[in-house]
Amino acid sequence: MPEPAVDGAEDSLSSYVMALDQGTTSSRAILFDHAGAVVAADQHEFPQHFPKPGWVEHDPVEIWESQLRAARGALKRAGAQASDVAAIGITNQRETALVWDRKTGVPIHRAIVWQSRQTASICEELRARGLDDEVRARTGLVIDAYFSGTKVRFILDAVDGAQQRAERGELAFGTVDAWLLHKLTRGRVHATEYSNASRTLVYNIHECDWDDLLLGELRIPRALLPEVRDTSGVFGLTDPEWFGAEIPIAGVAGDQQAALFGQGCTVGGQAKNTYGTGCFLLMNTGRQAPASKSGLVTTIGWGIEGRIDYALEGSIFVAGAALQWLRDGLGLVEHAADSEAAARSVHDTGGVYLVPAFVGLGAPYWDERARGTVVGLTRGTTREHLIRATLESIAYQTRDVVECIEADSGLPLDALRVDGGASRNDFLMQFQADLLGVPVLRPAVLEVTAMGAAAFAGLAVGFWRDTSEIEAGEAGRSVFEPCLSEDRRESLYAGWKRAVERSRDWARPEGEG
Ligand code: ADP
Repeated sequence: MPEPAVDGAEDSLSSYVMALDQGTTSSRAILFDHAGAVVAADQHEFPQHFPKPGWVEHDPVEIWESQLRAARGALKRAGAQASDVAAIGITNQRETALVWDRKTGVPIHRAIVWQSRQTASICEELRARGLDDEVRARTGLVIDAYFSGTKVRFILDAVDGAQQRAERGELAFGTVDAWLLHKLTRGRVHATEYSNASRTLVYNIHECDWDDLLLGELRIPRALLPEVRDTSGVFGLTDPEWFGAEIPIAGVAGDQQAALFGQGCTVGGQAKNTYGTGCFLLMNTGRQAPASKSGLVTTIGWGIEGRIDYALEGSIFVAGAALQWLRDGLGLVEHAADSEAAARSVHDTGGVYLVPAFVGLGAPYWDERARGTVVGLTRGTTREHLIRATLESIAYQTRDVVECIEADSGLPLDALRVDGGASRNDFLMQFQADLLGVPVLRPAVLEVTAMGAAAFAGLAVGFWRDTSEIEAGEAGRSVFEPCLSEDRRESLYAGWKRAVERSRDWARPEGEG
């Protein structure tokens, strides 16, 4: 985390940088001081809309109002004015797509959320047109309903006359960052930046431009699109109405990329894993944008002064969620945190492996018919063994993704930086270090996503001078050193691989018994 600038920051009148962290279920605002300490924070949830099974939508006005309330709330709690804030950094739920009227600023449809599966049939069409390889080569992504492009198509189809209006330049598309920029600047800025653009399915990550072939396939006119800017740089000023005076908005990044930066992963080969409901593992690959052979995605970490840092990204569907299942489904623990003491109370799992393939398996298996499996049960198996096996499964899945990322990037992992709710579990972090054979580094302040957004903004306005100040905040972090022998590590991992084989190809399509 940043330390105070030694000879004073340029903008010494301002005491704080404010991060706006616009997430899937809540909007947060956090004020950081020069030392990188959290001075005040505020958070407001907003409603989720589920118009049909598998569909998830947000009301853009509810996103904005909750975000504005959080920002004002954080200022109030710190007793701060707009003039105390050197810059605002935005980080956001990625891929969620919005379209609004350029003149009135009124959205023409609800935001379609990244999780929503409502564009699965558009994805099938793209696949049927043989576009898989083109999409991967141009965007680094796979054809999936997660990404924004098919959501834009959906909105233009769903609203009468929208396609024609888009072609006439009357409408604007944006991910949530662009929407917040639009609102904060009262419509003066229609822009996004590299990391968010790289999640849209229509951005060429090698040429760094919107991709005409894919725009054509999705019939998305260029006139709809935001300008793509540097991740760190002044995007515009907030309208004085919001905070009483103008504040520069000087950094914007998607949440996982902001976390990568907030963790100080600024050099190729450095990686972070966020242990939440699922896991998101990203490795900075520097100037290289390696294509994945294991089904991971290649993405833009950030672009600063036109220089792009790429990243490989792998996700794990079920991580902390497995603890929620132990708690809510089985009643084996009262709180997720109780798992730590239970796991420590036994020497090992007694040979038990639990594969939490509740919704199938991702990289490197890509098996949607895999299902949750417990193997190795004996008469001696206890609750504690099961709990320990559940925690260990998070570390095993992480190693699976690390192996893919190392193979795809050709870069060996020298340490894993961690954050997210389940990274508080010291047992899990030690087991992770043991299983990877590299140190696991956990910062003292786990607000790395917001810190990353603040850092992009603070660096742009001279509040912090360079990333070394940010990395200087390594004091106070926890380091988990690996202490298992290589033999033991590999034999444990081989057992996991055998357990995974047992979980695979289990579910049968309906009617096949
Ligand atoms: P998200 O952002 O995905 O909602 P969080 O980063 O808030 O997730 O982390 C919450 C997840 O972490 C939950 O799934 C919970 O089960 C898990 N979790 C929280 N604390 C612990 C702990 N001490 N040990 C293991 N898992 C934990």
